[in-house]
Amino acid sequence: MDFLSRAHIEMTEKYGAHNYKPIPVVIERGEGVWVWDVEGRKYIDMLSSYSALNQGHRHPRIMRALFEQSQRLTLTSRAFYNDVLGRFFKKMNEITGYDKTLPMNSGVEAVETALKIARKWGYYKKGVPKNDGEIIVMENNFHGRTITVITFSTTEQYRDGFGPYTPGFKVVKYGDISEIEKAINEKTIAVLMEPLQGEGGIIVPPDGYLKEVRELTREKGILLMLDEIQTGLGRTGKLFAYEWEDARPDILILGKALGGGVYPVSAVLTSDSIMEVITPGDHGSTFGGNPLGAAIAMASLDVIIDENLPENARVMGEYFMNELRKINSPIVEEVRGKGLMIGVQVKVHAREICEKLKDYGVLSYYAHDYVMRFAPPLVIKREEIDWAMERIEKVLKSY
Ligand SMILES: *Cc1c(COP(=O)(O)O)cnc(C)c1O
Repeated sequence: MDFLSRAHIEMTEKYGAHNYKPIPVVIERGEGVWVWDVEGRKYIDMLSSYSALNQGHRHPRIMRALFEQSQRLTLTSRAFYNDVLGRFFKKMNEITGYDKTLPMNSGVEAVETALKIARKWGYYKKGVPKNDGEIIVMENNFHGRTITVITFSTTEQYRDGFGPYTPGFKVVKYGDISEIEKAINEKTIAVLMEPLQGEGGIIVPPDGYLKEVRELTREKGILLMLDEIQTGLGRTGKLFAYEWEDARPDILILGKALGGGVYPVSAVLTSDSIMEVITPGDHGSTFGGNPLGAAIAMASLDVIIDENLPENARVMGEYFMNELRKINSPIVEEVRGKGLMIGVQVKVHAREICEKLKDYGVLSYYAHDYVMRFAPPLVIKREEIDWAMERIEKVLKSY
């Protein structure tokens, strides 16, 4: 490996915690779907930072919002009002139809926030005996890394060594409505799930499942909470993945691309009647809803809507998946996904393929050991997919 790359990698590993095991490439610049390493080599980004870069690297409109807001005001805390946050909330309402937004920073904070809102609603509105409620979650889920959230992970490594855990969660099989039905009792407050599991290996549930979950939760008087941190904001070919089945949740959780790949912004959206359980002092975050993040989030949303990114994701996703399915490789078992959230189930360690792809100029990553994932920025064009496909085909056929 080249001297410069090696120096950066060694420094990172020597002084940083080893909580990740990156593919050995050191990126110094990005633009659109492309990034360049410290030796000047060019790569196509097929991961998009797990969908945080739906708008591509350094989208001009988002960069302008960052720059302009940074010249005026960056932080007030929520002890005071600022002249950006209200406009951000209004835009969220106009785009999603949800009455109210609660802003946070990282995705997992938004998940924690949603869990708090649901629990308080359960006790104060639904009448579940206080501190005894249950929330139903799915096997193979990924909702982030806090202690409460890893409590209900079914990936052993995410939990191991981090107990004691938070009570009040029931894990059921994903994709089978009868499993949820059996798990519901008088203590049940809500169901939390991803409309399509991302980190779990790009798992698409059976057709009709989301709609069934929506109907069942409504009928039983419990909340449906969808974690669209990864699937939302255009990734699957609709603005939100729930639109594929008209399964609009009571509580919608967003993150990642809401910050346009620039700044961490997450949010929980719901109706007035649910959000009103949260009163001053119940919950908060020093940086949550800060004017810099709010300005960036507004620009990030504008780009998604004005550039029709959900539609591009749908069309390009179909094309990409078809091209992947045409590859005749002994190691490919299945190509699956929705929009530009694509998984390729392989028979060798997916990391090994990622490392080879990197040498050809394609940066991608894996979800679980045997699933390659392809999730480029949603601004990707057909020629750019072709550029990547040529190389992906070479690597997959080398087996
Ligand atoms: C990435 C992700 C999270 C966690 O977001 P962070 O910003 O890393 O905390 C939660 N849920 C889903 C579905 C995700 O993909």
